[in-house]
Amino acid sequence: MNIQCPNCQSIRITTKDEGKKVGGVIGAIGGGIHGISGALKGSQVGRAVGSIAGPAGGAVGSVAGAILGCLIGAISGGVAGAKLGEIVDQRILDNYLCQSCGHSFSIICHAGHSEPKIVGANFFNLTD
Ligand SMILES: [Zn+2]
Repeated sequence: MNIQCPNCQSIRITTKDEGKKVGGVIGAIGGGIHGISGALKGSQVGRAVGSIAGPAGGAVGSVAGAILGCLIGAISGGVAGAKLGEIVDQRILDNYLCQSCGHSFSIICHAGHSEPKIVGANFFNLTD
């Protein structure tokens, strides 16, 4: 991508991805909480399956099932949260950061264009 800083015309541009990071963490926590219901089900299934091997097998099975259910919830939640955060980064936040002057900007109006080069510097300065 040939992105230029609208402030100093530098091409040393990096992405901040703050929404993606925050979204991933929030998603993982939410997924973990949601995973508790999965953990309860997993624990019941694990206990039933483990009981075949005796009372000890039931206890081990319920713990393993609970951990698995919680992990699956956390992972799927984290992925969904990161995806959501990525959209927030691209559409809402000024995700691009100039490494030369520290100016933050967004290129949403250039999405879909064949040449993502920034020309309208005044437009981007409106958010400052
Ligand atoms: Zn700059």
